[in-house]
Amino acid sequence: MADPVPAGSDVSSGTYECTKCGYELSVQSTQHLPPCPKCENGEWTTESGGDSVEDPYPA
Ligand SMILES: [Zn+2]
Repeated sequence: MADPVPAGSDVSSGTYECTKCGYELSVQSTQHLPPCPKCENGEWTTESGGDSVEDPYPA
């Protein structure tokens, strides 16, 4: 999984943080990660969950 994660990615449920403004977005499993609702940036870093194989806190 790419990190940062581009908007529009197919992701598992988790928390993502905007690379630009730091907005935290919690999503359920989706096939289309939305752009940041605050600044419209299209890149996210994975805070927890997601598709990271190195997730230290699996659900
Ligand atoms: Zn943002």
